[in-house]
Amino acid sequence: MNKVTIVGTGPAGLTAAIYAARAQLQPVVYAGLQHGGQLTTTTEVENFPGFAHGIMGPQLMTDMTAQAERFGTKIVYDMVTKTDLSKPPFKLWVGKDIVETQTLIIATGATAKTLNLPGESTLMGRGLSTCATCDGFFYRGRKVAVTGGGDSAMEEAMYLANLATEVYLIHRREQFRASPIMVERAQKDPKIKMMIPYVIEEPVVKDEVVAGLKLRHRDTGAIEEIEVDGLFMAIGHTPNSEVFKPWIETDEQGYVRVREFTKTNVEGVFAAGDISDPNFRQAITAAGMGCQAAIQAQRYLEHLEASH
Ligand code: NAP
Repeated sequence: MNKVTIVGTGPAGLTAAIYAARAQLQPVVYAGLQHGGQLTTTTEVENFPGFAHGIMGPQLMTDMTAQAERFGTKIVYDMVTKTDLSKPPFKLWVGKDIVETQTLIIATGATAKTLNLPGESTLMGRGLSTCATCDGFFYRGRKVAVTGGGDSAMEEAMYLANLATEVYLIHRREQFRASPIMVERAQKDPKIKMMIPYVIEEPVVKDEVVAGLKLRHRDTGAIEEIEVDGLFMAIGHTPNSEVFKPWIETDEQGYVRVREFTKTNVEGVFAAGDISDPNFRQAITAAGMGCQAAIQAQRYLEHLEASH
């Protein structure tokens, strides 16, 4: 039986592993489909403290993995497909095996939704992005576009307006999902140009990077081309909580509800990182929550031992 099982190998899962391993709890981590999480799809990370000259996202995750393994973390490159968290020990289905664990840390993250544009996967990091805070800096002094009509799109457009020369905000309908105050602020920003109601047909690619966008007016069908160096897709995230949902309380979007830092509604089950945080979604905040979850799991185990 595992003392601590962690699902997910982004900054939250791996930081939890480093702390749990150093507390001699021999954590077992299930890596899931995307070992390293969202940072493995970015290029340079310039806002993770400790790297004065930045570090490549995949390298940061390789180093975090090595750090966790150095203290005895076991990383299993497999998926958890089903769970039974009705009572301890908790059961996790991994392939044909059933794993039992005294505590569980859910760090499965959230996946940014994308538009599935032609050539999208190869253009990620070459003009396409799902995170203005992460990649906006690379577009300073250039023209960019943001798509989406929610609070994230407004926030990203305003963030980018401080860096870029011009920001097109492209949304598929006339109504916004974003709060009126955010829409008003974006509309008042002289650098933001609203393109409504437009649908993005495809990126215009030159020398293997984004050089523009082909747009279609939703009502008239007219095609228009705009010149931009980057497109930020801010069309929402999908939290990866499906496998825990029968037992774990989530909000209406599927984010795990936590109380007292990382505790879920099930005692002994904790959640850290983007799976329980639709607000900040940063590597450093996820890492901080991973640390909290490991310490809370350790305290829970100590309490269990003391009461037996
Ligand atoms: P969201 O509110 O779900 O908005 C997603 C937007 O993307 C919608 O406008 C939607 O268009 C559009 N969209 C979805 N799929 C699309 C597609 N395939 N093609 C084109 N457009 C598409 O997501 P969010 O903006 O990420 O916000 C998530 C939550 O976080 C919200 O509750 C939000 O209030 C909160 N948040 C708050 C703040 C803040 O308060 N500062 C900042 C960020 C986020 P339709 O409207 O046409 O469906």
